Amino acid sequence: MASEKIFDNTEIAFELKSDTELERAHFLFKMISIEPLVRIGTAVTNFAIKASLPVEGLIRSTVFDHFCGGVNEEDCLDVIDAMYSKGVSSVLDFSVEGKETESHFDAAMETTLKIIRFAAEKDAMPIAVFKPTGFGRFYLYEKKGEGKPFTEAEQVEWDRVVARYDAVCKLAKENDVEILIDAEESWMQDAADDLVTDMMRKYNTDQTIVYNTLQMYRHDRMDFLKQQHELAKKESFSLGYKIVRGAYMEKENDRALEKGYPTPICESKQATDINFNAAAKYILDHLDTISLFAGTHNEESSYLIMDMMDEKGIAKNDNRVWFGQLFGMSDNISFNLAHYGYNVAKYVPFGPVKDVMPYLIRRAEENTSVAGQTGRELALIKREKERRKLK
Ligand SMILES: Cc1cc2nc3c(=O)[nH]c(=O)nc-3n(C[C@H](O)[C@H](O)[C@H](O)COP(=O)(O)OP(=O)(O)OC[C@H]3O[C@@H](n4cnc5c(N)ncnc54)[C@H](O)[C@@H]3O)c2cc1C
Repeated sequence: MASEKIFDNTEIAFELKSDTELERAHFLFKMISIEPLVRIGTAVTNFAIKASLPVEGLIRSTVFDHFCGGVNEEDCLDVIDAMYSKGVSSVLDFSVEGKETESHFDAAMETTLKIIRFAAEKDAMPIAVFKPTGFGRFYLYEKKGEGKPFTEAEQVEWDRVVARYDAVCKLAKENDVEILIDAEESWMQDAADDLVTDMMRKYNTDQTIVYNTLQMYRHDRMDFLKQQHELAKKESFSLGYKIVRGAYMEKENDRALEKGYPTPICESKQATDINFNAAAKYILDHLDTISLFAGTHNEESSYLIMDMMDEKGIAKNDNRVWFGQLFGMSDNISFNLAHYGYNVAKYVPFGPVKDVMPYLIRRAEENTSVAGQTGRELALIKREKERRKLK
């Protein structure tokens, strides 16, 4: 087996963390494991920001510094270099969300273009990323996905969204920087998927540059993957997929219930796990046409992918297989994988403190509601503290 429990090594996992940073992480995960605290904390923080109360310093020195690399690209450089000294690459993620004006969309595109140029010069950043709703209004994606005709003004607006995708994917291709495109709510995702497929068709001709995201908590994604595979073979382009389980489960289930349609989410956690692992296997079985970026904090899935790579004789550093975790989470997976020579990249979110709040709130909620994750982070941190004490 390729995998004998390497993720339990906390010395490698936390090598970059000083004792004080480890203490801070311990305190933070303890706090966010308490659900009512997260709920109240979120409400109070949202209110304080809206009321312009001076809470940014407090947020910055707690959740922000743990889950984000900095307020701008340059601010993230120390983190990027430190992680790369241990073999872990960075995917700079401009995590400002919920801004819906043309100037914000243009600014998000410019930031992504800047990151690609930055990445072209820096080995530590082989991959860039953007979010569909960072480049265009949610409503437009939704309307397009429903097949409803656009007004003339909406069509012009949509053309600008397409142009933003194109500018970014083109520059990524010219600079040999892979570009991941995140996935969001299912009711806007169809239009994003079509657009990303167009980008793959155009730019994944001699190598895979553009990656879409498959949220495997959706029970329709295996069929989608197979359909896309058929299409790519027929039209001679390659596919890249970031596979994740998915971050919007509660929202998806609530909307389906409210509007009275069957939920797109798998019937259980176990069904999602099976679906995720099946997608990983399918991609590894077809690595000639599909590249994999496994975005997960799940140890079992990570071990499984390592074992499948081993069985199939896929080199650990084969550029068609990447593992990804979020900054501030599952360092035991990231740094141990890198130690053994696998390709690993962490998403490093950045942006002004108040603008990355939706991202931070999602992380806090995820660490509260996702069974096991916080317990696991805490157990690892405690074990490392013990290990250092005994040294
Ligand atoms: C590098 C990276 C990129 C990411 N990009 C995206 C993205 O583009 N879009 C996005 O949506 N998310 C994205 N995520 C977030 C990701 O979806 C969450 O981190 C993920 O859901 C947590 O799952 P896990 O694989 O770490 O494993 P686990 O912690 O084992 O799984 C938890 C997940 O399982 C699913 N689940 C839990 N309970 C149930 C249930 N009862 N029924 C069905 N399913 C259930 C949910 O998806 C839940 O989040 C990304 C994560 C990483 C690490």
